[in-house]
Amino acid sequence: MNPSPPPGKRPLRVALVGAPGRMGQAIEACAKREPDAYEIALRLGREDFTGLERADVVIDFSAPAATAPVLAACAAAGKPLVLGTTGHSASEREGIAAASRMIPIVFAANFSVGVNTLFWLTRQAARMLGPTFDLEVIETHHRLKKDAPSGTARRLVEILAEARGLGDSADARHGREGLVGARTAGEIGGHAVRGGDVVGEHTVLFADLGERVELVHRATNRETFAAGALRAAAWLVGRSPALYDMEDVLGLRSTPADGHSL
Ligand code: NAD
Repeated sequence: MNPSPPPGKRPLRVALVGAPGRMGQAIEACAKREPDAYEIALRLGREDFTGLERADVVIDFSAPAATAPVLAACAAAGKPLVLGTTGHSASEREGIAAASRMIPIVFAANFSVGVNTLFWLTRQAARMLGPTFDLEVIETHHRLKKDAPSGTARRLVEILAEARGLGDSADARHGREGLVGARTAGEIGGHAVRGGDVVGEHTVLFADLGERVELVHRATNRETFAAGALRAAAWLVGRSPALYDMEDVLGLRSTPADGHSL
């Protein structure tokens, strides 16, 4: 449990992991605009996750290698964690799920309100359009992005597989090359485009014979993710230990079957 007193009227004290990075700077800029609501109390660098007792909540946008030590430090200090880092391995994701039994964690591939609405729309469209529509996810990001596919694209594929009831039989094809043959019924295609300074674009394509539907989200500024992460931090303080995502924060979860999986 989080032992911090409720922040009350004072600003929420945030410990920021990855503070010098692109997202860290965007979070600083957003927090500065609302000094009554947020204070960046601690900027944490590599391998130094001490001093968490000064914060109400930790926000981490850094790299997957930081996640295990950050989880351990948050669990030891009893601090809730907003985790925005993407690109984790299956075992790193298991570590996040295990830590969420001790501390509350919001772990989201994307903190923007628009993308979480896209998640909701994708789930509804997949259910309504039915199994004859082929499913493809196309994402575009800036040239410096390290992981592919994006965490958001992975989550979209997961949502499509859940909505189709494909479970583990879903065949996620990230990129196609050579004589790959015709599409299979369980196939969900994924394509990662990299270039320039694109902040983030995601398209979900539903294609049948004679018609297709496309749901598109374009982020033009990192502050949309930063504002969402700060909103998630304020929402998280005082919650029970569990693994939450941004759809929980925004109240977009429509049925228990829509739950977050790792
Ligand atoms: P960046 O490379 O600009 O910044 C990363 C920062 O993390 C740097 O300051 C770096 O020094 C620090 N860092 C790296 N390894 C570390 C470690 N082991 N311990 C502590 N700090 C470490 O990257 P960015 O564009 O700011 O993105 C950071 C992460 O956030 C990436 O995983 C990215 O995919 C993710 N991201 C998530 C969302 C979302 O909404 N969930 C949005 C944008 C980016």
